[in-house]
Amino acid sequence: MATLKILTRRAALLGGGAAIGGLATKAFTPSNPTLDGTRFIKPSGAADMLNDASGLSETTIFRHITIKHDPGAQLITAIRTELNEARENGRPVNVGAARHSMGGQAIPRDGHAITFDNGLVEPDTSNQMMRTHSGARWSDVIALADPLDLGPRVMQSNNDFGIAATFCVNAHGWPVKEGPMGSTVRGFEMILPDGELVTCSRTENADLFGMTMGGYGLTGIITQMDVELAKNQRLEPTYAEMPGEELGTRIVEALADGEVTMAYGRLSVTRADFMSKALLVTFRPSADQSDLPAASGSGAAANIASRIYRAQLGNERMKDVRWWFESDLATTIVSGPSTRNSLINEPVVTLDDRNPDRTDILHEYFVSPDRFAEFVRLCREVIPGSFQEFLNVTLRFVDTDPDSWLAYAPVPRIAAVMSFSQEMTARAEADMQRMTQELIAGVNAIGGTYYLPYRPHARQDQLAQAYPRAAEFVAAKRALDPNLVLRNNLWDSYLRVL
Ligand SMILES: Cc1cc2nc3c(=O)[nH]c(=O)nc-3n(C[C@H](O)[C@H](O)[C@H](O)COP(=O)(O)OP(=O)(O)OC[C@H]3O[C@@H](n4cnc5c(N)ncnc54)[C@H](O)[C@@H]3O)c2cc1C
Repeated sequence: MATLKILTRRAALLGGGAAIGGLATKAFTPSNPTLDGTRFIKPSGAADMLNDASGLSETTIFRHITIKHDPGAQLITAIRTELNEARENGRPVNVGAARHSMGGQAIPRDGHAITFDNGLVEPDTSNQMMRTHSGARWSDVIALADPLDLGPRVMQSNNDFGIAATFCVNAHGWPVKEGPMGSTVRGFEMILPDGELVTCSRTENADLFGMTMGGYGLTGIITQMDVELAKNQRLEPTYAEMPGEELGTRIVEALADGEVTMAYGRLSVTRADFMSKALLVTFRPSADQSDLPAASGSGAAANIASRIYRAQLGNERMKDVRWWFESDLATTIVSGPSTRNSLINEPVVTLDDRNPDRTDILHEYFVSPDRFAEFVRLCREVIPGSFQEFLNVTLRFVDTDPDSWLAYAPVPRIAAVMSFSQEMTARAEADMQRMTQELIAGVNAIGGTYYLPYRPHARQDQLAQAYPRAAEFVAAKRALDPNLVLRNNLWDSYLRVL
């Protein structure tokens, strides 16, 4: 492709370790907990352990290496070497990026964990797309694309995540009317479990494309990708308040206005007003699109919002204050135009709780807009019965995904992204699992789906019901990878037995 080549690279090795000719063998330093009696403690002190963002997934591994090569022969050789050694010894392999999935989806038990550390991004302005190393992060993309008045077309609401990882969970974001991120991927290069290098697109190896999109790294190791970009724009927010049950249909009505290019909703989380109040924020391009400022992120409003967000813990009054901040104060005082890139250029650390005794756990559910009121009633029945601290729920629109075999949006969906603060204890884990299974049962009953990158708390039958093509996916995976070299906890806990 005709390429304007501008390169960026994250300076630091992920977590340290010496790089040898682009391949760093990392003595993994665990910083996450293990279960000691009834309480998870940080750190465990074990050298052969790997964990993820939940801090609850500590798993023994054989080896963790970081690979820093650009796409090309050296990268392919390094991956083939790892695959061969693992296959000969009956061990699994899995690649991760930021490991913000929360249930070992990027961890191979007793296997070879690979992390890519290479932020290579090559924007192609004439075709409004980029070719990128699969391990590049969205922060790398924004840093390169923003000066060219371009930015990610669809990504999560935070910028830390890997590009291939985003494709492998098939994440969604605020841009509308868009499908998940996989809808913006034109093609990619991938090494299959037997070491063969293939290219995949909607016209070449189309089945592999659909299996890999939302396939959690179980079909192959992606080395580079071609992904669409969008024009950066100055956007103005509009705020509308409404009863909670109406939010699903009101989002769809708002999107009938073709000028709306980003949107999200919020629901109140105080026990007194549980999901009864809703706020819908829609963004339209400003009249003035000249001299766009550089992408900022983490502005004053984000930092104030983050402090108020944390102060909600165990404090119903602060939950009220936060609602007032978002629905009244922020709409008048701190509101104003912002660029599309600035809105999504937020690192996860802004919301970090810095509390060794608690962890933030996300849930996500996808329901049809016209069943959203039933979803709200379900949440009112289930969530207050648990002792988890419920901090936030954000609503998004996700358009139809016709490609992914493990699709969570086979028809247009409202995505409900929920954030809980959980104690690092066994009793909190048990309570979270019970609540999650009740929520999934209710969501499945109204034709919805739950999201797979979070805690492995669903029952086996719930996954099969939420993802009707799961058995077909597993059969094709077994044919592609008869030695089951590519494995992670999603496979071990769920797909293995389908
Ligand atoms: C604070 C927070 C906010 C979030 N917001 C959103 C959101 O707005 N929208 C949304 O949809 N999701 C959201 N998520 C979920 C998030 O998208 C997933 O957890 C995603 O996996 C994170 O990317 P990662 O780089 O951490 O992936 P990892 O956990 O490192 O990997 C995810 C999966 O991708 C596979 N993989 C990674 N790289 C490769 C490769 N090169 N080849 C093959 N397989 C690969 C891994 O094996 C694994 O199965 C959020 C999560 C958090 C913690």
